[in-house]
Amino acid sequence: MSDAGAARRVPIRPEIAALAAYRPGGAPTAPGAVKLSSNENPYPPLPSIRRAVAASADRLGIYPDTRATALADELGAWLGVPADRLCFGAGSVSVLMHVLAAVCAPGDEVIHPWRSFEAYPLAVHTPGATPVPVALDADGRHDIDALLAAVTDRTRAVLVCTPNNPTGPVLTHDELLRLQRGLPEPVLLVVDEAYVEFVTAPDAARGLDLLDDPRVVVLRTFSKAWGLAGFRVGYGICAPELAQAVRTVTPPFSVAIPAQEAALAALAERDALMARVAAIRAERDRVATALRDLGFTVPDAQGNFVWLPTGQSTRWARHFADHGLMVRDYAPDGIRITTGMPGANDRVIAAAGTLARD
Ligand SMILES: *Cc1c(COP(=O)(O)O)cnc(C)c1O
Repeated sequence: MSDAGAARRVPIRPEIAALAAYRPGGAPTAPGAVKLSSNENPYPPLPSIRRAVAASADRLGIYPDTRATALADELGAWLGVPADRLCFGAGSVSVLMHVLAAVCAPGDEVIHPWRSFEAYPLAVHTPGATPVPVALDADGRHDIDALLAAVTDRTRAVLVCTPNNPTGPVLTHDELLRLQRGLPEPVLLVVDEAYVEFVTAPDAARGLDLLDDPRVVVLRTFSKAWGLAGFRVGYGICAPELAQAVRTVTPPFSVAIPAQEAALAALAERDALMARVAAIRAERDRVATALRDLGFTVPDAQGNFVWLPTGQSTRWARHFADHGLMVRDYAPDGIRITTGMPGANDRVIAAAGTLARD
């Protein structure tokens, strides 16, 4: 490279250069280690889903249906919403980015809870908007008053995460309604329900009940409960006009043919998959109870994970890693442990029992 070339700079936007790229959960480093760091579904794919994916290989040379029509029809029928209210992306993280791209311009503000999903600040910066993080309360729950108080005339959207990743609690439905009613007219309310299938709290927020309001978008995914994280299928449910705008900014053909087929096959297996989800919920509750019995503080766990708040998160994560358990370190706030198969969960409880907590 010439000296002149070395002196030139790639004109990366400073707010992007300042951000770290999304950090995936740590992978197992030792034989027999278990990855409990990415909230993945611990079960292997069902045979019918494998078959559907294999059969789709005949169509590898053609582009997918960019609107995912068959999937939209099936999913819409199951959810009880018209297919024109659905928009798809390569995971619901992508759908979030496209929703924000459809509504935000540089200088707009997007309010989001913190600590929450790590992709939120990235998704807000992508269209040039400014993230406005609002602290959770001491129990790891959304602070509705603080979210409302953060609204300014530049606010374009408010994100909520229910159950909240990584802390675990849901918003109650009353809290969601209070937030919706308190938002001024042009502000979009994005309800991230990535873990909704794992929720057991009877008073939990139901984003779909708010869809009469065209300012509301619900985000869901096939990655967690449905076991398709590797295939990247997420969706938004919203007003038809917004769904259309989201499709406009979504790169064409974002959901690949095998992914669409896998999601369709998963919907056809919903009873078997939801039985697995019920087993994961029971295991999550077992782990949370055992950790509380050991004296840990564990906020209400409504996803497929438990949150252990600690200022010693890196040391705690290392302790679990030493026991072959890869957990997620969210320094300096705590660690998140995904619910795995029962044997892995037994190991989590055993390792927690030998953790020096100071
Ligand atoms: C996992 C997750 C998602 C969805 O991820 P995709 O795999 O992109 O669908 C969305 N929101 C939260 C809070 C998550 O934890």
